[in-house]
Amino acid sequence: MKAITTDFEYLPAVTVGEALDLLSQHKDDDYKIIAGGQSLNTMMKHRLITPEYIIDIKGISELDYIKYNDKDGLRIGALATHSSLERSEIVKEKYSILSELEENVASVETKNWGTVVGDLVNADPAADPAPPLIALDASLTIASKEETRTVSAEEFAVDFFETAVQPGELVTEIQIPALPKNTGVYFTKYSQLHGDYALASVAVLLTLDDKKETCVNARIGFGAVGSTPIRAVNAEAVLKGQKLTDELFVKAAEAATGEISPITGIEASADYKRELAGTLLKRVAKEALARAKNA
Ligand SMILES: Cc1cc2nc3c(=O)[nH]c(=O)nc-3n(C[C@H](O)[C@H](O)[C@H](O)COP(=O)(O)OP(=O)(O)OC[C@H]3O[C@@H](n4cnc5c(N)ncnc54)[C@H](O)[C@@H]3O)c2cc1C
Repeated sequence: MKAITTDFEYLPAVTVGEALDLLSQHKDDDYKIIAGGQSLNTMMKHRLITPEYIIDIKGISELDYIKYNDKDGLRIGALATHSSLERSEIVKEKYSILSELEENVASVETKNWGTVVGDLVNADPAADPAPPLIALDASLTIASKEETRTVSAEEFAVDFFETAVQPGELVTEIQIPALPKNTGVYFTKYSQLHGDYALASVAVLLTLDDKKETCVNARIGFGAVGSTPIRAVNAEAVLKGQKLTDELFVKAAEAATGEISPITGIEASADYKRELAGTLLKRVAKEALARAKNA
C-alpha cells in the first residue's frame, strides 16, 4: 500500500506567477493543487487520489481578498475562506444571501480552512455555494501561463466532481455583478443534520420593475438534484414578465421539477428529491419576492 505522506513531491507557491510556473511545468503530470485541504486531504486519506505532486497555493496572500465596488460588484479571491465570506461586512450588506448560506456549511474548522473556490472546484453537486452563485450570475476567472479566461458559474461544473478547469490552470477569482435595484435573493438547503451536505438546495433571484409589480428578471439555481448544480431556465421563464403570485410559483416549481435530474442515494430517492426541490422553490421564491419588495 502506498504511504501518502511520502509519495508526493510538495511544491509550495507564494505568488500567482510561481503557481502558474509550477502548473505549466507539471501540467502533463499527476498533480493536485491544494488550498485549505478540506476536500483534498479526505480524498488522499481514502486513497481515492494519489497525486505525484502537490502544488500548495495557501501561501499566495494576493489571492486572499473579498472586494466590492458599485461598478464591478463583488470579487472573491481564490483563498477567501467560507469563514471570511460569512464574516465580511460588505457581503452582509450587499449579498446577505452569501453570509446566510455559510451559517449551514460544514463545521467552523472546515469553514476556517476551506476556501469557497476550493468548494466549487471540488464540484460536489450538493455543495452550497454554486446555486446562489448561479442565481447571482457569477463567473470565475481561470488563469494559466498562456491565457486568462472567464467561465460562468452555471457552466463551471461539467459533471460529478469535474469542472471546466483544465490541466495547468488555476482559478483566481469569483466575480458577482452588483445587484440591480428592486432585487431580492434567497437560498435554502434541506439536509438531515445542520452542516451536512444538502438533499436539495435552491437559490432564487428576482428583480421587480420600478412599480415593484412585475418580475423583470428571475434566476434560479439548484443543488444536489443532478450531476452538477443546475440553472432552471424553464422555471425562470415562467416568472419573467409576470406579476408574481403563489399560483405562479407553483407553476415555476412544476417547470423546475421537469428540468432537474435527481439521483437516488442512500438518504433519499430521486422522486423524494424532486418533490423536495419543488417545495423548496415555492418557499424560496416567496422569500426572494418579499426581499425584492423591501429592497
Ligand atoms: C466534514 C466536511 C463537511 C462539509 N460540509 C459542506 C457543506 O455542508 N457544504 C458545502 O458546500 N461544502 C461542505 N464541505 C466541503 C468544503 O466546503 C470544502 O472541502 C472546502 O471548501 C474546499 O476548499 P479547500 O480550500 O479546503 O480546497 P482543497 O481541499 O484544498 O481543494 C479542493 C479541490 O479544489 C482544487 N482547488 C482548490 N483551489 C483551487 C484553485 N484556486 N484553482 C484550481 N483548483 C483548486 C484542489 O485541487 C482540489 O481538487 C465539507 C467538507 C468537509 C470536510
